Amino acid sequence: MRSLRLKMVLIMILMVSCLMLVMVSFLTSRVVSFYVTEFYDKMEQSFTTGFLQQLQNIAAQADDKASGAEQLKELVMAQADLGIDISDRNVYILDREGTVLSGSNARSAVTATPNLLTAMAGQVGQQSALMDRYMDLAVPINGGGYGYIVYVLDNRGTVNALTSEIVRIILRALVLGLAFCIALSFILSQIIISPIEQLTRGTQAVASGDFSKKLEVSSRDEIGTLTQNFNHMAQVLQDTLAEAENERSKLSTLFLHMTDGVAAFDAAGQLIHCNPAALSMLRKSENELRYDLFAGIAPLEDVLALRQPQFAEGSLQAGDRELELFLAPFSAESAGGVIVVIHDVTEQRRAEQTRREFVANVSHELRTPLTNIKSYAETIVQTGDELPPDLRSSFMNVILGETDRMTRIVQDLLTLSRFDSGRMEMNFTRFDLRQSVETVCRAEQLDAQSHGHTLTLLPGPTAMVNGDQSRIEQVVMNLLSNAIKYTPDGGEITVSTGLEDSHVWVRVRDNGIGIPEKDLPRLFERFYRVDKARSRASGGTGLGLSIAQEILRLHNGEIQIQSVYGKGTVVTVRLPVAAGGPDGE
Ligand code: ADP
Repeated sequence: MRSLRLKMVLIMILMVSCLMLVMVSFLTSRVVSFYVTEFYDKMEQSFTTGFLQQLQNIAAQADDKASGAEQLKELVMAQADLGIDISDRNVYILDREGTVLSGSNARSAVTATPNLLTAMAGQVGQQSALMDRYMDLAVPINGGGYGYIVYVLDNRGTVNALTSEIVRIILRALVLGLAFCIALSFILSQIIISPIEQLTRGTQAVASGDFSKKLEVSSRDEIGTLTQNFNHMAQVLQDTLAEAENERSKLSTLFLHMTDGVAAFDAAGQLIHCNPAALSMLRKSENELRYDLFAGIAPLEDVLALRQPQFAEGSLQAGDRELELFLAPFSAESAGGVIVVIHDVTEQRRAEQTRREFVANVSHELRTPLTNIKSYAETIVQTGDELPPDLRSSFMNVILGETDRMTRIVQDLLTLSRFDSGRMEMNFTRFDLRQSVETVCRAEQLDAQSHGHTLTLLPGPTAMVNGDQSRIEQVVMNLLSNAIKYTPDGGEITVSTGLEDSHVWVRVRDNGIGIPEKDLPRLFERFYRVDKARSRASGGTGLGLSIAQEILRLHNGEIQIQSVYGKGTVVTVRLPVAAGGPDGE
């Protein structure tokens, strides 16, 4: 049954009907019982010993059976208290066998009721059940002569008429009561159900996510309290939802922008969520991303079986990237899954590798001169005076040369370490780069000439830059000395300068040995040398270009090397023009 209103109406009807039914049964049974009791009381009062004696006398003196019966009937009917009215209550005179001899009406036979049977057995029959349709009394008359039974039978006509009247009245009351009930239940339902309906509408609105409507609290009863509590609950729910939404958006922003990749998979290994970093690190699209990709690190079931804070870890190669992965289970109320956090360790590994190589290089670079120094010094010590003086002085020169080399290496390393730690102090001024280049060219001219090179500085404009002049000159000097070193004697070295947009450039060109193409990208690595023996022989440390690059980095400049192996090399340095113009005006 859907409607509470209908339920209320039915309950009321049922209640009223039950009440009426109880009243009907109670009243009718009381009326019947009253009448039955009254009947037997009257009988008892009427059939006194004297009256019985009179009846016995008639029976004893009767001429014949029929006239005796007639006389008995007359006497009984004359007894007003018995209330024989012929219609509802009658009297019959029967013989001891139960045959009707005379009666107040024309009935010639009566039913053999229990009372009658009792009287036929010689006792007074005076019992009647409430449910019987009649009341009767059977009195045996024994006075010698004929034996009679005086039988008073009441068909309960009066009682029945009264009880049917009662039922009629109650039925009428029932109809009225029901009408009243229906009207009352509608009024009641209006009072009780309307707020409930309002609450129902409220819950529906909240369920569909609409928190805007506050329900009106129209009473202070239980329903009013319920409405008030509902409003409070809706408010708390709204706040909680807003908080959760806020958290969610914070998390999704975090996921979106974090550099580590995060991907979540359900218990079946299907992708639930992932951030852009995860996709780019794994080089996959969202459709391709499944847990199977990580099954080699730990099978899905194994990770799901882990208990927090346990996790599995492993690494994966995706293209040229090295990825470190952490896999941990998560469990929601409905189902669990696995979260994979991806960390790109390519740079870290590369840096570790570079550092390892660097330490190995430093050890190697220092060991070589040290070994040389040791062996020459040992020879000098062991041979003593036997060593010819010119050989001794040449050995001493080697030792000095190697010491200088070591000093240069240590100095270069120190410079680089200052750059690395950001402790390199730069003395920035505004100066003319063209002038600096001219100074360096002049300084290197002698060295170039000693190798038979032609060192030419082409004409160029004034070019003001902002920077540490001595460091920039160090860069140009390094480029020039490289050109001199890596060009066979009698080579052509040309230096030129110029302006291009907002940059000043310096170019050093030689027609020397050149650099193989495969080595070009590695020239700026520390200690990287194309031809180690040649570099070492000419006093190189393999750190010059690294230092040049660091210096230019701090000046927002750049360095580019173009080379054709066996033909020559062109190195170009670019620096931003100083504010105020390139010509220093
Ligand atoms: P080095 O002290 O060995 O010169 P650099 O860092 O200055 O170290 O140079 C690195 C390497 O680059 C050199 O060892 C050399 O092999 C190569 N290189 C630099 N400049 C030239 C050039 N002009 N011609 C040929 N090779 C060059």
